[in-house]
Amino acid sequence: MWDAGVAELGRRTNGRRGESGAFLLGEPGATSTIRQFIFYDDIDPDALNTGIVLIDGRRLGALWKICRDTGLKVVADVHVHPGSFRQSPSDQANPIIAEANHIALILPDFAQGSNLPGRIGVHRYLGNRKWRDESDYLFPPFHVGKYLWR
Ligand SMILES: [Zn+2]
Repeated sequence: MWDAGVAELGRRTNGRRGESGAFLLGEPGATSTIRQFIFYDDIDPDALNTGIVLIDGRRLGALWKICRDTGLKVVADVHVHPGSFRQSPSDQANPIIAEANHIALILPDFAQGSNLPGRIGVHRYLGNRKWRDESDYLFPPFHVGKYLWR
């Protein structure tokens, strides 16, 4: 599911002409499991028009309806950068979901690389416009595959 979603994000950069992104819906919990990508431009057709991701809040009703219909919640978000996976000042100033512990993932190089933890941005929102960059953690809080607890 991750690989398919990432490939679609790469396609939606429209020949590397701009950023793309998605809400990541899942089952929240002590460990949240991502089940579905909801692409920004499916919620707001104009979201990708400027080259950076901008979502009109008035369009979010469609997202909340999907959440109600599926019983899933937005547990993270992901967007694609032309270069580095570090946050831009705009990313920091405009959290997609301004809830503490929300995770914002950033895929570098128009999502053309491996796109696995260790090579992507993993940014935790702490609330009050503060973030923690957890991209370089030995065990990042985002994992592809199953965790095996011992
Ligand atoms: Zn960004």
